[in-house]
Amino acid sequence: MKSFRTDLHIHTVLSPCGDLEMSPARIVLLAKERGLDIIGITDHNSTRQCRVVWELGQKAGLTVIPGCEATSREEVHCLTLFPDFDALNEFQEFLDLHLTIIPNKVSLFGYQVVVDEDENILEEFHNYLGASLDASVEEIEQKVHELSGIFIPAHIDRPRNSLFSQLGFFPPELKVEALQISKLAEETTVRKKFSIIPEITLVKFSDAHYPEDLGKTYTLFEMEEPSFEELRKALKGEAGRRVIIPQ
Ligand SMILES: [Zn+2]
Ligand SMILES: [Zn+2]
Repeated sequence: MKSFRTDLHIHTVLSPCGDLEMSPARIVLLAKERGLDIIGITDHNSTRQCRVVWELGQKAGLTVIPGCEATSREEVHCLTLFPDFDALNEFQEFLDLHLTIIPNKVSLFGYQVVVDEDENILEEFHNYLGASLDASVEEIEQKVHELSGIFIPAHIDRPRNSLFSQLGFFPPELKVEALQISKLAEETTVRKKFSIIPEITLVKFSDAHYPEDLGKTYTLFEMEEPSFEELRKALKGEAGRRVIIPQ
């Protein structure tokens, strides 16, 4: 079994709040420099910057998992990750169908652009990606699992946009591969505060919007190889795989 430094919550220049410095090339370069083995690309309500990062990752020997951070109707942020681009593209159709249409105010929220590997702007999005989807947490979870994806409610300890802040409880029907705690949170404290049972895995990722945050927060995945199926096994603690939040 090997140990892989993994950060599955990273924003790019496409997120309204993502720094313009967070280009695919910069993200891959910094992830390699700072010793990450696996990264997830999770912009707000869009998957459109994933492919370029994935392609650059292939060349650099970095595993890139495509996905997004979906905002539910209740304003709960949920990490969604997918095994391949067919599943990802189908999820993008779901996002296009459900995103509430609010024009982006660049002066307030920032630019939302897709760039290529040389940082040329390919497309600008005018609908605000920070808006919520017209879909509940459960509906998003079901869609993700229908597409064989991984569903992880984001930064559950935060006072805004988290499962507990928005719903006040953990819906008993909700199927999660893990729950993500924010970078300064401590695992034992969060488990106690929200009464999280040991069967539910906790992970810690950076939620990086700026280059300086990339690589500083990660979870160690002990598994055979850096693949999507191994990630899933590690999150479930199957066949000797496991995840460890470094202290
Ligand atoms: Zn978030
Ligand atoms: Zn985020």
